[in-house]
Amino acid sequence: MTAQLIDGEVVAAAVHSEIKAEVEKLKAEHGITPGLATVLVGEDPASQAYVQSKQKGCSEVGIESFGHYLSKDASQEEVEGLVAELNANPAVHGILVQLPLPKHLDEERILRAVGLDKDVDGFHPINIGRLAMKGRKPLFVPCTPAGCIELLDRYNIPIEGKEAVVLGRSNIVGLPVSMLLLHRNATLTICHSRTQDLPATCRRADILIAAVGRPEMVRGDWVKPGAAVIDVGINRVWVDHPADREWICSASGECFIAHRKEESDKGGRRKMGVYCATHDKIYLKDEVPADAEGCEMIDLYRKYKLVGDVDFEDVKEVAGYLTPVPGGVGPMTIIMLLRNTLTSAERAAGLVE
Ligand code: NDP
Repeated sequence: MTAQLIDGEVVAAAVHSEIKAEVEKLKAEHGITPGLATVLVGEDPASQAYVQSKQKGCSEVGIESFGHYLSKDASQEEVEGLVAELNANPAVHGILVQLPLPKHLDEERILRAVGLDKDVDGFHPINIGRLAMKGRKPLFVPCTPAGCIELLDRYNIPIEGKEAVVLGRSNIVGLPVSMLLLHRNATLTICHSRTQDLPATCRRADILIAAVGRPEMVRGDWVKPGAAVIDVGINRVWVDHPADREWICSASGECFIAHRKEESDKGGRRKMGVYCATHDKIYLKDEVPADAEGCEMIDLYRKYKLVGDVDFEDVKEVAGYLTPVPGGVGPMTIIMLLRNTLTSAERAAGLVE
């Protein structure tokens, strides 16, 4: 058996068009432009990239984005003060505080400071609490878990009455996706690092959601034939073994360099060190000696690829449906954030509950 691919890019594109049309309607009929404020504290490159892609997503569907950047030393009061300002700004319908925050800040207090009605990330304890309670509805559902359910729905995979197993119980993925499955009347098992006999537990699942952050952990013999497998994991693995020192040289011209967007690579590259041409020596990052100043240096990269928590090649022979990594759950996360922002603007206008 070969699983049907659940294509997150295709679903994300469809939802994208729907959001764009809704945003245009909201502007034309009610004169309201949805607005998303992003708060980035510090200069972590991965966080900068995430914020940029969220802002790009906004502009593509006509949502206004307001970028706020604070230094890595920003105080608790400064961050909370900015959040309070954004709470009071009627042009802002959603506030996204990019995580992780620098260690000296109290992350929980900052997330709690975000107004419930602007919590488009869905991480406010009251929104999570409502998600956990029977008969209650959160104002917003966290984006990655919402994306998982959207994928199941768009492929008409039934949830009600099915055995669902979720691998992982984190606040951002495992727990909320479990609550969503329960709301949809699945029979639920949540697994974590202390669960005994994971393979046998997973084999019970009609719907298996893997969110553990362990590269290719779920094997084909963990999966019930015909099951729908949603792989949330995004893990970076080196293409070559780190010890073999098969460097990819950015300046040599003859070596290949993996670019993020290059389809065949599905990964990227990370700077690992430098080659000092003057002394014919390789230095790892942070190991460049002071006396190397003035030497001819060439940046060296290693290539990585992204894999999920599921062994794709093995599991595709057993599962009925399977998401790839990348291109499965990943593209859904930002789309769900945009949808939450739109919902928030519609709610502010009294158009939805
Ligand atoms: P966390 O590290 O917060 O949680 C991992 C969970 O997996 C924990 O509950 C942990 O158990 C459990 N776990 C870890 N190792 C094992 C094991 N060997 N056996 C059983 N359970 C295990 O991760 P996140 O939930 O934040 O993320 C999970 C994955 O999803 C990551 O790869 C992350 O990159 C990816 N991700 C993808 C997103 C997307 O947009 N597609 C968005 C967010 C995350 P315990 O609680 O006992 O420690």
